[in-house]
Amino acid sequence: MSLFDRAVASALPVVPRSVVRRISAPYIAGATLDDARRTVATLNAAGKTATVDVLGEEIHTEDEAHAIASMYGDVLAAIEGDRLDANISVKLTGLGLKFDLGLCRSLVEELVRAAGEQGARVRIDMEDATCVDDTLAIYRDLRAEGLDNVGIVLQAHLKRTLNDIDDLRELRPSVRLCKGIYVEPRAIAFHDFDVVRRSYVSCLEALLDCGSRVAIATHDEHLLVESLARVEALPADGYEFQMLLGVREGRATELVAAGHPVRVYVPFGRQWYEYSLRRLQENPRMAGVIARATVGRAVGRS
Ligand SMILES: Cc1cc2nc3c(=O)[nH]c(=O)nc-3n(C[C@H](O)[C@H](O)[C@H](O)COP(=O)(O)OP(=O)(O)OC[C@H]3O[C@@H](n4cnc5c(N)ncnc54)[C@H](O)[C@@H]3O)c2cc1C
Repeated sequence: MSLFDRAVASALPVVPRSVVRRISAPYIAGATLDDARRTVATLNAAGKTATVDVLGEEIHTEDEAHAIASMYGDVLAAIEGDRLDANISVKLTGLGLKFDLGLCRSLVEELVRAAGEQGARVRIDMEDATCVDDTLAIYRDLRAEGLDNVGIVLQAHLKRTLNDIDDLRELRPSVRLCKGIYVEPRAIAFHDFDVVRRSYVSCLEALLDCGSRVAIATHDEHLLVESLARVEALPADGYEFQMLLGVREGRATELVAAGHPVRVYVPFGRQWYEYSLRRLQENPRMAGVIARATVGRAVGRS
């Protein structure tokens, strides 16, 4: 992580809201559900599916958890009403994971059942390492209830992940595999870039070996190439690639043209500002990446 990255991340809170909006605009559909609908429709028209994320992960009360669940209900209704090819991605802290596990479990179960009735799926995002055990326990509970339209996320940078895959093996879980965005202590997470890449490939192989339907969530060209070599013999419904809205869109389009399924993660919501700041500060490297890209675009225009 360079000094530039750290400087950009720490300067963000004093950067005017309008500038943060401009920096984050390509990565967020907008503040409203209509913004998300339009974005998903455009992606669908380009042959890409979507997974919709309602921004709002920092909550402290039962009412706030119900409000987030209700917004996801609206998203599901919009997906069905507009016949969009999209799922939802849910952060369990937004449904009360940190203060009421029972409430969180029942809210996510309601969403999974509602999604199932309309043929949609729910992906449970993975948050920081303190959330992993409870998130996996809730996922197991849902599967034990016979709910199969739910998937989980595993993070290749965590040292525990290969064991988690082994423990989940009998469920043949639907897994989104990512590197992991949260900065974790060295005791539990790999920090070296190449070691994380190697762990990603090992986790991918382990998931494919247990018959898991893997969503390969990375923009890292090295990992895309390694992954393509490992999924080429699979049927198109056996895997998919996933990317974040606004990131490497051209590469996503190439994958679609080559016949690979691609899903785009579409965050929206009134908390776009808080989300942008938190994400950029959580991962200063990304603040640097985005700032460089923004400077690059500005230079390109001038
Ligand atoms: C669909 C999807 C869902 C995800 N869900 C989770 C989750 O539930 N939990 C979790 O911890 N993490 C999640 N992540 C984030 C993931 O863990 C990584 O932090 C992130 O994808 C960056 O890693 P990378 O594999 O793309 O490789 P990197 O080496 O970090 O990135 C490769 C290149 O992609 C570009 N890039 C990557 N990310 C961005 C960005 N945000 N903005 C601009 N350019 C970018 C840059 O050019 C960069 O050099 C998700 C990622 C994706 C794609």
